[in-house]
Order: sequence, then C-alpha cells, then structure tokens
Amino acid sequence: MRPDILFPLFAQVTDLPGIGPRLGKLIAKLAGERVVSLLWHLPAGLVDRRYTPKLAEATAGIIASLRVRVGKHMAPHNPRQPYKVICHDDTGELTLTFFKARADYLLKVLPEGKERLVSGRLERYGDELQMTHPDYILDPAQAAELPDIEPVYPLTAGLTPRVLLKAAGAAIARAPALPEWIDKAYLARQAWPGWRDAVAAAHRPAVEADLLPTAPARQRLAFDELLASQLALALMRASQRRRAGRAVVGDGRLRQETIAALPFRLTSSQEQASLEIARDMALPTPMVRLLQGDVGSGKTVVAFLAMLACVEAGLQAAMMAPTDVLARQHYATMETLARAAGVEIALLTGRDKGKARAALLERLASGGISLIVGTHALFQGDVAFKDLALAVIDEQHRFGVEQRLALGAKAPTCHLLVMTATPIPRTLMMAAYGDMDVSRLTEKPAGRKPVDTRALPSERLAEVVAAVGRALGRGEQVFWVCPLVEESEAIDLAAATERHAYLRAKFGVKVGLAHGRQKAAERDQAVADFAEKRIGLLVATTVIEVGVDIPAASIMVIEHAERFGLSQLHQLRGRVGRSDRPSTCLLLYQAPLGPTAKARIRILRETDDGFRIAEEDLRLRGAGELLGTRQSGLPDFRLADLAVHGDLLAAARDDARIVAETDADLAGPRGEALRTLLYLFERDAAVRTVRSG
Ligand code: ADP
Ligand code: MG
Repeated sequence: MRPDILFPLFAQVTDLPGIGPRLGKLIAKLAGERVVSLLWHLPAGLVDRRYTPKLAEATAGIIASLRVRVGKHMAPHNPRQPYKVICHDDTGELTLTFFKARADYLLKVLPEGKERLVSGRLERYGDELQMTHPDYILDPAQAAELPDIEPVYPLTAGLTPRVLLKAAGAAIARAPALPEWIDKAYLARQAWPGWRDAVAAAHRPAVEADLLPTAPARQRLAFDELLASQLALALMRASQRRRAGRAVVGDGRLRQETIAALPFRLTSSQEQASLEIARDMALPTPMVRLLQGDVGSGKTVVAFLAMLACVEAGLQAAMMAPTDVLARQHYATMETLARAAGVEIALLTGRDKGKARAALLERLASGGISLIVGTHALFQGDVAFKDLALAVIDEQHRFGVEQRLALGAKAPTCHLLVMTATPIPRTLMMAAYGDMDVSRLTEKPAGRKPVDTRALPSERLAEVVAAVGRALGRGEQVFWVCPLVEESEAIDLAAATERHAYLRAKFGVKVGLAHGRQKAAERDQAVADFAEKRIGLLVATTVIEVGVDIPAASIMVIEHAERFGLSQLHQLRGRVGRSDRPSTCLLLYQAPLGPTAKARIRILRETDDGFRIAEEDLRLRGAGELLGTRQSGLPDFRLADLAVHGDLLAAARDDARIVAETDADLAGPRGEALRTLLYLFERDAAVRTVRSG
C-alpha cells in the first residue's frame, strides 16, 4: 500500500487550485495526470526579469521589466493591424502591441493614466521601442508577483507559461519532506540536497548551469529515479532467486535430431549460447538470461533447442512474441523444426476463441501439449500449464516489468529466456534489466552478404520507382517503408496509403499495404501474401520493424530516412539480406539533412555491426530515443538521461544490489525510506515482491 505521506502527490492535478478539467487534460497530456507528474516536469530554460532600465537607455532584444505610465489606447481600424497602447516613463516612450486584442480587456488591465509594471521582450523598430504581448502587466502594488528569474517549462498547445508555472508551484508546495533513502555516506560525498530541496531547486533555476543534467539538484533527482528502477529490478531478481527453480536435464535426443535435420550448420555463437542456456537450466535456480543477437543472427533456433530440452525432460515450454504476426511466424518456423523432432507445437493468440481455444487450454493444463507459441494471450488469467519449465520471451523490450511479474506468478519455478534483436549498449542493458546473464550471438549465419546501402534525396523518387519496377520484373521482393509516428499519425498514415495507391497504379495488383491501424487479420494477410510471393511489393509502416523474417525480400526502400533513428534504420535494413542473394537498401531522404541525420546515414553505410550502431546511436541521440521508449520496455525515465547519467546508473545498480542482498525485505533502517522511494516512482509491483510488503 502506498504510504500516506505520498497521498498529496498522487492526487489528480485537477486537485490543484485553478486547474479544472480542461487544463487538467492538457497537463495530463504534457506531464501526466498526477500532482507528482508536475514535479517531474522540469524547466527547460529560464527567463531573467531583473533588467529594469529607464526607457531612454533600454537595450532591445532582451527581456526587460519596466515601470511605466499608461497613455493613449489606439485601436486599429483594420482588425489585422495591432492594437497599440502608448506608455511613458520620465525618459522615453514605449509602445505595447497586441494582435487580435480584446479592447475591453486591455482597457481594464491598462487603464489610461495609471502606473503599470510590464515585463517582456523589448524590441526596437526604427526609433520606436516596442513590447509585443507583455508576459506580465501588473499594478505596482502587485510587484511581488513579478519573479526575478522565472523557470520556463516545456509547453503544449493551449497551456500558457503562467498556468504551468502556477501549477508547478502548487505541486511543489505539496511536496512533503520525505525520509532520506540515499545511503548517507554516498549522499554526503555527492553533496546533494535532500529530496524536497532538490525538487524545489530543480524547479527554480537561478543560472543556466542549474538547468544542466549535472546540476546537483538534477543529479539527485536522476539518481532517485535510477535507484528506484534498479532497486525494483534487483528485488524482483532476488525474489526470483529465493524461489526454488527446477533443474531441466534432458537426454539431448530431440535436440540432436533437430540439429541433424537443419538445412544449415549452427554458428559457433549459436552453439555457445545453447550451451550456456542448457547449463543454466540444469541448475535448481531459475534462469534469467538474455539472448541478444542482431537481426538475422538466428535466435529462434537457439530458443527452440532450449524448449526441446524441456520436452526431453517431460516438461513444458512456451514462447511469447509481442505481436500476432510474429507469433504466427515463430509458430511456422518452429512447427517445421518440431516436425523433424516428432514433437507437437501449438499456437495461441488473442484471436483464438470459443471451443478450439477451450480444447487447447485443456491440453495445455493436462500436459497434452509440451510446446506452445503465442502472444501475451498465453499469460491471461484462465491459461494454466501443467508444468511450465521454460518461458521464452521474444523482443523482450516490448514487455514491461509487469508482464514479467505476471509470468512469474503463473510459473514460479520457470526458467526465463528473453530474446532481443536490439543490440543494447551496456548502459541501457543495465537500465532495462539490471543484472541479467547475457548470451550474445555475434556472427551472422554463413552465406549472408552485406546489404548494399545507398542514400538518395527524395527528388530522385522517380529513379527509385523505375529501379523497383525492374526488380519486380526480375521477380524480386521489395519492402517499401513509410514512417509513422504517433504525433503525426494521421498525416503519416495518409502518406503511406497514398504511396500504396501510387505504386499500385504503377505496378498493378502485386502491391500490398500493411500498417498498424489495419485490422490485424488484414495486416497479417498482407504480410502473408508478401511472404508467399502473391505480391511482390509491400508498402509498410514500421509494423515490419521487429522480427519479421521474409528471406526472399532483397530490396528495401525507406522513405524519410531522416525521420528514423539509427537503430531503427538498422533494424529495418535487417529485414533484407537474409538469404544468399545480394540485396539493397535505399534510403530516401528529404534534403537538406541536418548533421545528425547525415552522421546516421554515414554510419549505416559504413557498418553492419549492430552493437557499434547502438553505441553510436546512444551517442547521437541520447538514450530515451534510442529504443523509442514507447516500445522499448525501457523504464521511461523522466529525470535521468542515460547518455549523461551513466555513472549514476552504475552507482544505483551497485547500491540496489547491496540492498537486495542484505535487506531484500526492506526491513532494515533504510527500508521504510526505500519503500517510499519505490512508491514515489510507481514501482509498486516491486514492493509486492518484498515478503513483508
Ligand atoms: P533472428 O535472430 O533475427 O530472430 P531468425 O532466428 O529469425 O533470426 O533467423 C533468421 C534466418 O536465418 C531464419 O530463416 C533461420 O532459419 C536462418 N538461420 C538461423 N541460423 C542459421 C545458421 N546457422 N545458418 C544459416 N541460416 C540460419
Ligand atoms: Mg526473431
């Protein structure tokens, strides 16, 4: 249960004075819907209002605060012209300018003949000194309301700086003094403020340096966030270790048969990974291992061999994929492998309903089925296994910690193998997984040729279309990727649909379309048509990014390559070059390219090494964007920036490990405070793993 002391922070933002439902919605969209969300919404800049010159000597181009006497109002004849109010001090004249102004309002706040304090950006036109839409217009009696230095918050349409400033102020005022959770010696060494002071300081920058991620208050808050996340991971890991696992030792017969039936030889890193996994699973503590390998490195077969070990031991294994498309694809691949070994494998997705589903669930519960592939539908409430010994989670970065816990509840002694195609830099590995054993597939299967990668400005679209036409004529399979991001989803979708129509008009019915807003069945059909060569060209948004394996595809066109991140481009490119045929990736970009986009394309052309690409991406873009937090399963950090706070992350991890080893129940002297920390950062699930939590 969340401690009482945190209640004021977890109230809705609409609880704050002056925040009604309309503003509440905007704030929720911008920062989050709780009061605490506003605390995490830190200023991105500051405005210094301490420049108070006389008008005669005022410098234009900066923010000034001026005491003036209001003179004439000059309403425009033409409503497109500005409304002007002439003001004076004893040295000169200032024109206040308002566009689309309401005269009645202006007459009220700027009554002729009265003194007013105005603050805003000064500009000079000829010898006219102007201030357009002052930030503040105050009666001199209210002078105290004019801040010397004002934080500037990131905004969203419809929210004004003043509203957000007030709301943030109210949120800070509600922040209680919380018990100190940081190790005393470490805190003293860092000379950081306490939590409440850090919040207040981070929201009240006095100089530009206070805005940097290296400012003490910001470091402290970043560390808090990292500690919460690392502690959550460490506690869950500890609770996993406390559970007795079950040794899975098969006789190797099914695995040998399968390997013998493969149309290729395992690479040595596939062999190595299989060995590491088999060794872990043979121990009586649950395995938690990450199988990390670039796209096309052949993770599926490694996972399948691990699953077979369970069948040899008379137990069950399940593989969970993030989407229907991928679950089906894994099923298709593994079905072939399973048949070679004479084992049955089942598929369960959200689309299975009614009798067939019920029958399947029964066989799962009775042990009639040993192997199953599915989506998260596998871990719904009514799904029960007879004896699940291994869960494989593909593309784990789409699954959050909560799902991992749900899985733990379903099969407490289960071994866990998570696979990711995203080559994650060390820092991010730590952030996302804490301490986890890792097997890496470092070589590509033999016979793969590097993808010929070229970048072209979008003006050369016609050439690309012509080349694609020739390739289709030769019977090649072409992916055509259009970007789609949430912020401009409608426009992006329209662009993808339009491109599809255009290419279809050019090439006829052999052109399909797949995107995330289609009905799942329709999308799967398009992908299947492409995989089975009923169509030659598939226009797709990034639904094809992760995992889709269509070895026949040899050409990939990516439109607006400048809008994709480096790792994402690498992932996309990995969809081609999966056979021994030469393949091409064409990056169409909108000129002119900024320096980052240029660097991205250069790196991509230079290397095919996913790990190098990931490191470069982290360097170029910062961690938040690297995996695309939305789909990353990476904790969505509000305060920490992994590109900058790598050392804090390491410190947080070490501290979390010590706590998990020495006081996993959080019963010691820091325990109460650490619990508060976990709740503060909404790691409630982790607290539940604590026995006395
Ligand atoms: P990923 O690691 O991206 O999930 P997959 O497991 O989908 O890769 O494998 C990609 C393709 O490579 C599949 O068609 C698979 O059959 C093939 N493959 C896997 N291992 C090897 C190997 N050792 N040699 C040749 N091809 C392989
Ligand atoms: Mg895969």
